[in-house]
Amino acid sequence: MTLNTEQKYILPAIAAAAHLTIQVRDSLITAVEKAGREPVTIADFGSQAIICRAIQEHFPDDAIVAEESAADFLGKLSAGAQALVTGLVSDQVHQPVDENMICGWLDYGKDKTAARTWVIDPIDGTKGFIAGRHYTIAVGFLMDGVPSFGALGCPAYTPETGYIFYTEDSNVYRVPLHEEQQPAPIAASTQADAASSRGVESFESGHTDHSTLDRIRVELGTTPELVVRMDGQDKYAAVACGDAEYYLRLSPDADRKERIWDHAAGVALVQAAGGIVTDLDGKPLDFSQGKTLASNRGIIACNQTLQEQLLQAVQQAQA
Ligand code: AMP
Ligand code: MG
Repeated sequence: MTLNTEQKYILPAIAAAAHLTIQVRDSLITAVEKAGREPVTIADFGSQAIICRAIQEHFPDDAIVAEESAADFLGKLSAGAQALVTGLVSDQVHQPVDENMICGWLDYGKDKTAARTWVIDPIDGTKGFIAGRHYTIAVGFLMDGVPSFGALGCPAYTPETGYIFYTEDSNVYRVPLHEEQQPAPIAASTQADAASSRGVESFESGHTDHSTLDRIRVELGTTPELVVRMDGQDKYAAVACGDAEYYLRLSPDADRKERIWDHAAGVALVQAAGGIVTDLDGKPLDFSQGKTLASNRGIIACNQTLQEQLLQAVQQAQA
């Protein structure tokens, strides 16, 4: 199968980044704390460096909005941890790498403004990654502020198999990370029965308001057994491939705005798979407001048939 140019260069970078994260997870996790008490690991920096390197090489004029920074790489990691990152990245990109190159890649494209903007979360769900649960290497692409391409590396999508999910034109595919297989087309579910619909939501209660989501589900008429809690944008992947009918998210912190790198790739994926993504008020997500979804509140990603019922359930739960 011939890939579009973006996919051709980004999918191998995501696979390399995923392999780096697996290597770190299986042998040498160390987490440090960033501003805002969010954890970051050497794998977050390694993953971002690999992906931004590919963008620099093949799409040098594009802008990049990515979660990690050279300042944190230098300021938060010990010299030993920095050396681990350079070694891990060097193994994946098959060239000698030093700390300056890592810093250059981490910050590449960050001060640009361009119609073409990549939006990257090198490890979405770092808490899940550290705890051995789900996590996602998320690469989205905005064209004039609209998510138009997305790829998610999901190394722990099932306990047995990791996958890369990606859009190509208006289609969506998934391909296993570890096996030579042709990509398989996927699509969102068409299940219309709210009571038996399957949901996904954040594992961490600090990231999503589980009790409000429980109330929404009561209104929807569905049961807690039909909900799976998982980290990262694997939740969008689950909706895109029909493993779940909906993903709901509402920050427990009313003042916190969602970060675009937690959503851009997943939104492109779900939309191309035939699903729909809005905020909890049914408004389209506005990715043109900088690093946050400043004019939105919460997230509903679901198949088309359930959206109206979900919006009603959200309203009733908050009435
Ligand atoms: P998840 O794995 O889906 O729970 O989401 C992980 C993401 O949650 C991280 O990338 C953070 O950007 C984000 N996050 C951290 N704190 C909060 C919060 N208080 N509310 C919403 N999202 C948060
Ligand atoms: Mg994230």
